[in-house]
Amino acid sequence: MAYRIKDKVGFLVEASKILSSSLDYNVTLLSVARLVVTNIADFCMIDLIGENGILHRVASHVADPKKREIAKQMFDYPPDPRNKEAIYTTASSGKPILIAQVTDEWLKKASKIPEERNVLKKLGVISFIFVPLKSRGRVIGVLTIVSSHKNFSYSRDDLTLAEELASRAGIAVDNARLYTDAQEAVSTRDEFLSIASHELRTPLTSILLQVQAVLKNIRKDSDEKSGSQRIIEMLEHTEQQSKRLARLINDLLNVSVIATGRLNLEKERVDLSDLVKEVLKRFSMQPKPLRIPVILKGAESTIVGFWDKVRLEQVISNLLSNANKYGRGKSVTIKIKKDKNDAVLIIQDKGIGIKEEYQKIIFERFKRGVSGRDYRGLGVGLYISRQIIEAHGGTITLESKVGKGSTFTIRLPLK
Ligand code: ADP
Repeated sequence: MAYRIKDKVGFLVEASKILSSSLDYNVTLLSVARLVVTNIADFCMIDLIGENGILHRVASHVADPKKREIAKQMFDYPPDPRNKEAIYTTASSGKPILIAQVTDEWLKKASKIPEERNVLKKLGVISFIFVPLKSRGRVIGVLTIVSSHKNFSYSRDDLTLAEELASRAGIAVDNARLYTDAQEAVSTRDEFLSIASHELRTPLTSILLQVQAVLKNIRKDSDEKSGSQRIIEMLEHTEQQSKRLARLINDLLNVSVIATGRLNLEKERVDLSDLVKEVLKRFSMQPKPLRIPVILKGAESTIVGFWDKVRLEQVISNLLSNANKYGRGKSVTIKIKKDKNDAVLIIQDKGIGIKEEYQKIIFERFKRGVSGRDYRGLGVGLYISRQIIEAHGGTITLESKVGKGSTFTIRLPLK
């Protein structure tokens, strides 16, 4: 908190060295915050733009150890788009803001929440700089720099230095984020490949064993008729396992079709109730039918839309298979109804439920909320389902409580 740096070039060179010394995302964020507070500020915060343009507070640092607890409270008030002349304004315009002297009037514009204004006052904010963190030509976040010294206000000169620092910090943070994402992607892929190979090998081994047994039987029973029933059973098992293998491979193909943006819909007139009944009939004709009772509600209504029948069938089958797999043998309720301009399909089970932390990610590719030891699967069913529903302009949402069950709601536009 020297505030004014004499050797600006030297400071920026040193800053670049510190910023490039780690690819660990959290270490880099902390380095930026420390660098700012050690050299030009009493307090600083970093907010990064996440999905849907929403800013998330990711780091803060305060010089005065007595103010640490107060500073932490700023995490209770992440940036609010209603606030003006502050973080969101810099994030959306990409332009820095200098508030040389904080006034009550400005504070009221910059924070609509009285409690937050209180925390800022306790921090003793006097002068503010908001600078955009930029990388690869776009704003990725905002660096907030604060002085709380009564006799010190930031100037245009300080703003220029802060911008220089932020442009280096932006690249460092972005690189660390990309590196972390890449590492996560690699480990998800590795885990997926190990599950996929295991999943594909199981039916294949079973097919091989069955074929070998059939061959042995045919050779042994070539003169006797009595072996034919046993051979039929074996061939049926082989057929079942081959179908399972085909389904798994089909799922993987679907994932690659979606990844390359080639998911085409072949739309036709579809009656939702008839479609659900067809899927249920198909399940009942399988050698291993659903082990959970199904209660069907609203199937008497005619709800007709213009959709891809085969793909929707796939979605309903996926959700029913999951209800069967994770449903602890308890009944599943399927509801079909019309709501304004949407067809609504609800599949509700009373099974194991899904932890809150998993609810957001299980619609992503290869993400699972259970271990492969307890429940088999590739973690692509919900991903494919969501992609199909969204390609129709619809939505799929989830409500779930651990131990109580899960409810998946699909809304499909009728027009
Ligand atoms: P898979 O079942 O092969 O893992 P999905 O994409 O169909 O793949 O599901 C992803 C994850 O979502 C599952 O691993 C499981 O944790 C969770 N899940 C899906 N449906 C249900 C359900 N009805 N009840 C509880 N958990 C579910």
